[in-house]
Amino acid sequence: MPTNPIMITRARTQAHTPAWQQAWSRALRDPHQLLLRLDLDPSLAAGAASAHGLFRLRVPESYLARIRPGDPDDPLLLQVLPQAAEALERPGFGPDPVDDAAAMAAPGLLHKYPGRALLIATGACAIHCRYCFRREFPYGEFGGLRDWGPALAYIREHRDISEVILSGGDPLALPDHRLTELLLLLERIPHLRRLRIHTRLPVVLPERIDAGLLSWLGRGRLQHILVLHANHPREFDPPADTALARLRASGVTLLNQSVLLAGVNDDLGTLCELQERGFAAGILPYYLHLLDRVRGAAHFEVPEARARELHAGLGSRLPGYLVPRLVREVPGASGKVPLPP
Ligand SMILES: *Cc1c(COP(=O)(O)O)cnc(C)c1O
Ligand code: SF4
Repeated sequence: MPTNPIMITRARTQAHTPAWQQAWSRALRDPHQLLLRLDLDPSLAAGAASAHGLFRLRVPESYLARIRPGDPDDPLLLQVLPQAAEALERPGFGPDPVDDAAAMAAPGLLHKYPGRALLIATGACAIHCRYCFRREFPYGEFGGLRDWGPALAYIREHRDISEVILSGGDPLALPDHRLTELLLLLERIPHLRRLRIHTRLPVVLPERIDAGLLSWLGRGRLQHILVLHANHPREFDPPADTALARLRASGVTLLNQSVLLAGVNDDLGTLCELQERGFAAGILPYYLHLLDRVRGAAHFEVPEARARELHAGLGSRLPGYLVPRLVREVPGASGKVPLPP
């Protein structure tokens, strides 16, 4: 029987929209809805609406499910709730705190440190973290996000680069066919040894770690490292654990980086539990970052003396392999700068 090829294509496209993309598009984006869903005081609405105008709210349902209803101080909520304080101008806080603009070697490619280069593979994220240092990043201004040609040419010409870091945005926001296309192009560059992925998705949208992703991740010529971004032990829930177990089984090296955030994880108990919980999911700690001083995030800053004290506390309570390095990013430095004890 003759069939209509257009209808087949349509049916296929729908059937093949991966579950993670459906979950992605169901993310909550309305501050008013967020307050309603979490049973929060409507007096927060005005501040939430104004800060939402500066940087849009976005929370996937699976993350929302981990926030305690009725608690305005919930550490997961604080990471996503737009707040009036974001509108306050504070000296020292600006739109590009780490001077990414000066490090742009090709459209979308940042080359700051020897041996490794960072590709801003996409501007999209599944979650919008209020403290994000790229909250004002002009993703739309460069074509590199669509055309990786010039960035790849730069990497090809710089034989000292042995590692490419996919960042963003969240690089796992890209569909698998785009990622495999990129991976194949990178594998053809002979001096590359490692591919690193900086992502928050295994904890904020665990649905992303599906068979499609695992069909290429952990395979091929390059060694793959996944650096997760989780800030609080409660970000690990059973779906996240499952996602991380699948990643481990694929042979990817798993590390975690966190940002030290006032009200979220600036106490020793939480920080210890974060490392313990991460390790239980197969992850070793990598960095604990001081906040990058991006405009709108001043209320998240933890004073340096307090940061050092917390870090010393971690060292005295945990085995060495569970203590992340306490670092800050200093524009012009040749790597993340460790804080002296
Ligand atoms: C943070 C960062 C890196 C990675 O630094 P590592 O110390 O290797 O983790 C690389 N490039 C840029 C531009 C960065 O901001
Ligand atoms: S997921 Fe990463 S890049 Fe995206 S908003 Fe959060 S911190 Fe920023």
